[in-house]
Amino acid sequence: VSRFGPFAGIVMHTAQTRPDNPALVDERGQLTFGEVEALSNQVARGLAAHGLREGDVVALLARDHRGTVLALSALGKLGVRAVLMNTGFAKPQFADVAAREKIKAVLHDSEFVELMSAIPAEIPRILTWVDESDNVDPSIPTLDSIAAGRSPDQLAAPQKPGGMVILTSGTTGTPKGAPREKVSPFITAQLVDRIPLPRNSTMVVAAPIFHATGLSQFGVGLALGNRMIFQQRRFDPEQTLANIERYRAEALVVVPTMLQRILDLPTETLGRYDVSSLKVIFAAGSAIPGDVVTRALDHLNNSLYNVYGSTECAVISVATPEDLRLAPDTAGKPPVGIRIRLYDENRQEITAPNVPGTIFIDNPHGFKAYTDGRTKETIDGFMSSGDVGHFDSRGLLFVDGRDDDMIVSGGENVFPQEVEFLIANRHDVLEAAVIGVDDRDFGKRLRAFVVPGPDSKRDAEEIKEFVKTNLARYKVPREVVFLDELPRNATGKLLRKPLQEMEIGE
Ligand code: ATP
Repeated sequence: VSRFGPFAGIVMHTAQTRPDNPALVDERGQLTFGEVEALSNQVARGLAAHGLREGDVVALLARDHRGTVLALSALGKLGVRAVLMNTGFAKPQFADVAAREKIKAVLHDSEFVELMSAIPAEIPRILTWVDESDNVDPSIPTLDSIAAGRSPDQLAAPQKPGGMVILTSGTTGTPKGAPREKVSPFITAQLVDRIPLPRNSTMVVAAPIFHATGLSQFGVGLALGNRMIFQQRRFDPEQTLANIERYRAEALVVVPTMLQRILDLPTETLGRYDVSSLKVIFAAGSAIPGDVVTRALDHLNNSLYNVYGSTECAVISVATPEDLRLAPDTAGKPPVGIRIRLYDENRQEITAPNVPGTIFIDNPHGFKAYTDGRTKETIDGFMSSGDVGHFDSRGLLFVDGRDDDMIVSGGENVFPQEVEFLIANRHDVLEAAVIGVDDRDFGKRLRAFVVPGPDSKRDAEEIKEFVKTNLARYKVPREVVFLDELPRNATGKLLRKPLQEMEIGE
């Protein structure tokens, strides 16, 4: 099974053990594991007939639906490497990543047809999903058309798994490619150690599969024989609740901004849906503000699990609902098999509680290098996460922020996230971001960007005063800039670079 790579192997295994379990539901209906497996064999033969061979690299640019599942499974069967492209890419990023990864073909949804002008015309295209309203050339083959009439029987395993390239979020620049070659049953073990994930049940997957959060949960869900509900190619908070109610889903997979959008629905809308079936909300990808955590526990069946992880390391720690009741901003504890160490700036290990340091993990999945050859700092086999954090005396981990986001102002260290979450928690603020800008006297000074709510007076002084009464003086922004929205990527992560580059008048 492992020769088929991290995804096809899982589908194949569950299809052998539980062929009649429903595997997914999308706008076209339901498919069982047996059907997914047979269809992916047909698609694999179709892709081979279109010239794809073991060792080739293919870009997949698709939302969450059966086409994505069939494509990933079929590529795994052929030993073709899949590069999971971000659906939020603009042309330059798509072109950069496609060139860096040396792709030989593109599998994409009709929605992204415009983006294809960013890459050479001779690269073949195959459609993973077609919307009637999109203007696509009818001569472009679809997964349906290439699969038609082909044998659904198992293919011979490739010599080597093709694997996948998962892109990082690109929070710090062009997304890096993190290769993942093998099936890792270990991830499942780690997760079930801390999270009571359902089996032979139903999960609503709202997080996109192209991102490590959605992909890993999707893989784990399939391994546990679960049915995935994908009825929203674009995230819609109310539709998510409706799907939980309709399918009596026991798990929901989200990135934190999705959770926030669900909880921002009017209370009467939230109360209209029966979410009593929910046992696990799996939220990962960025920190969750403490007030969002508490509201989620109160309104969504006390089922929130905050998962701290990264594309390179997968799961690093998990906070259970019990941990989050003790400390809403904790990232919890590492699961089985993960060891965490904190190192100070001189790379001396920190063992005392409440002392922050860079978080290092013992790299259980053997990440070696990004596809561009860059590596991560490693000490005694422990790999840097790039984040700074601390443990409290109970052994709970707190992620203070990214190493490179830290602002040193007047010799004091400030993690912007703390200030951002505080400002965003005001009733008249929708969201906030804080960056450091060069300052003659302090080295850096804090600049806050605030998206005001409808009842905001847009009073910068009031916001500064508010921070002053809640946090240390050096954490008070010297400037407050009001914006209509903050720059975010497709998974809702805040992008600080555009803010840093923004010209601000006096
Ligand atoms: P790039 O490396 O391209 O800049 P990225 O680091 O944002 O992108 P990801 O691998 O998607 O790419 O994100 C991992 C990072 O997200 C972690 O290192 C951490 O900073 C943050 N993160 C993820 N989950 C959590 C969480 N539960 N709590 C706090 N931070 C989190």
